[in-house]
Amino acid sequence: MKQLIDKLYKTNNLTPEEYKELIDNRNPELAEYLFTRARTVRVENYGYDVYIRGIIEFTNYCQNDCYYCGIRKSNRGAERYRLTKEQILKCCKVGYDLGFRTFVLQGGEDGYFTDEKIIDLIQAIKTDHPDCALTLSIGEKSYESYKAFFEAGADRYLLRHETANAEHYRKLHPERLSLVSRKECLYNLKDIGYQVGCGFMVGSPYQTTECLVEDLLFIKELNPHMVGIGPFIPHHQTPFAAKKAGTLELILFLLALIRLMLPDVLLPATTALGTIHPQGRELGILAGANVVMPNLSPQNVRDKYLLYDNKICTGDEAADCLSCMKKRMESIGYQVTVSRGDHKSFS
Ligand code: SAH
Repeated sequence: MKQLIDKLYKTNNLTPEEYKELIDNRNPELAEYLFTRARTVRVENYGYDVYIRGIIEFTNYCQNDCYYCGIRKSNRGAERYRLTKEQILKCCKVGYDLGFRTFVLQGGEDGYFTDEKIIDLIQAIKTDHPDCALTLSIGEKSYESYKAFFEAGADRYLLRHETANAEHYRKLHPERLSLVSRKECLYNLKDIGYQVGCGFMVGSPYQTTECLVEDLLFIKELNPHMVGIGPFIPHHQTPFAAKKAGTLELILFLLALIRLMLPDVLLPATTALGTIHPQGRELGILAGANVVMPNLSPQNVRDKYLLYDNKICTGDEAADCLSCMKKRMESIGYQVTVSRGDHKSFS
């Protein structure tokens, strides 16, 4: 098995059979070996820097009904909110003063936010903070909309593919959503010139090793700038309420594999990872991740953007979140940096 890790380290590539073999036969010793390799590659590319992204969860209205997600349209128990333009700009100002140089606008697919409104938001944020990067994470849109957002100043786009196996995709989403259109969106975003992030949930219901191998192959093919992976965590008001959460151990293994496949990829240790284990994000960094995404949403809406149960940091001020994160990173020998943290190919 170690030879496979060495091969991946040297060539950034394995066959589907080899990925499957590695994942199916993983054990703590092999994982340690993999993490050491992944850290070497991470440090070669990004040193001990950890990039921060301030995430602003600006709406939890959503027209979609993904079976796993707590803000799905059918969840009548979700208390819905939208931030105003003034509230969003205030979050950015607070974030800027704390040292954030990337803002991520994330939300459900909310028809209230027309292209016109999104463009107005992008322009306002970029006018206030021309030295910052702006990331959108607002779901599937037409080529024309993506292009208009890009021309208005958006730099990056996060759209997890969720699973690269079409049958599995069907089990996680209602009929009107398809893997084909999800992938098309990602290729469109790349074509337009965004720094693009795809990604998937680890341990989502019905996921098999074959699904994970397909995820890795798709990631290699798309060659994104960012990859967001985290555990699936059940939400009590969804059809998947009784399903099991993904495990820390498998996520760390996959983070490290992805670091070796795409040596300079931007790889977050996600909030969901911090939710399933108190040191989840630190362990993610030690497995090769190099990004964290502290929350910049206003305190009064924090506990309403609940994609899954037991989400951490829902009661904290942005400043507290950031100082907690700085301490966590320092405790493992890494440092949070004030920087846009672009992908190497963009900086
Ligand atoms: N509407 C946007 C943002 C979605 S929320 C979009 O479609 O891209 C961001 C991510 O949260 C999703 O892509 C999904 O991977 C993740 N997510 C949703 N529900 C989750 C759950 N129950 N557990 C873990 N992650 C979840």
